[in-house]
Amino acid sequence: MNPLIESTLPTKYGTFQVIAYKYQVDDLPNLVLHTDRLDVSKPVYVRIHSECMTGDVFGSSKCDCGEQLDYSMKWVQQHGGVIIYLRQEGRGIGLINKLKAYNLQNEGFDTKDANLELGFHEDSREYTPAVEILEDMGINRIRLLTNNPEKISAFADTDIEVVERVSIEIAPQSDNLGYLLTKKQRMGHLLNLKAIG
Ligand SMILES: [Zn+2]
Repeated sequence: MNPLIESTLPTKYGTFQVIAYKYQVDDLPNLVLHTDRLDVSKPVYVRIHSECMTGDVFGSSKCDCGEQLDYSMKWVQQHGGVIIYLRQEGRGIGLINKLKAYNLQNEGFDTKDANLELGFHEDSREYTPAVEILEDMGINRIRLLTNNPEKISAFADTDIEVVERVSIEIAPQSDNLGYLLTKKQRMGHLLNLKAIG
């Protein structure tokens, strides 16, 4: 997989190099952000972030996506590394279906059952594009910023070694506590949720 374009992106967190990779769905390119200090001869901090327009752009408190992206951008500026932004909104079911799932959640379904009710898997995300991007960048040892064991197992049959998992702990808020508990209790996410004991 070859990059489509590379450029420089100054942000409130600091300056990133931005790389756009091939289109995945709906003609939306996957994006990579990294700092100048990228040394691929050592294990590289990597965050694979799936697009969540409501959380990333609008600051939704229904989920923790925006805060995880914020945490990752700060982390990468501080420690170096790579953020891979995959265009698979709503755990891969798209924005419209995600909003339908929100309506079901308002009727009492949790985030997993709402997706199942709509006829989807609980999580339809696909991490192969992230593997291909890392391979193109010559990165073969990573320190993965994630709470999601599925992201670690996505590298099981690849030439990329996950040498460390770095947890992302976001303090729960009242609006996303149920969502975080479902991720922990029903979807295997490795969350401490310390703030709620
Ligand atoms: Zn989200």
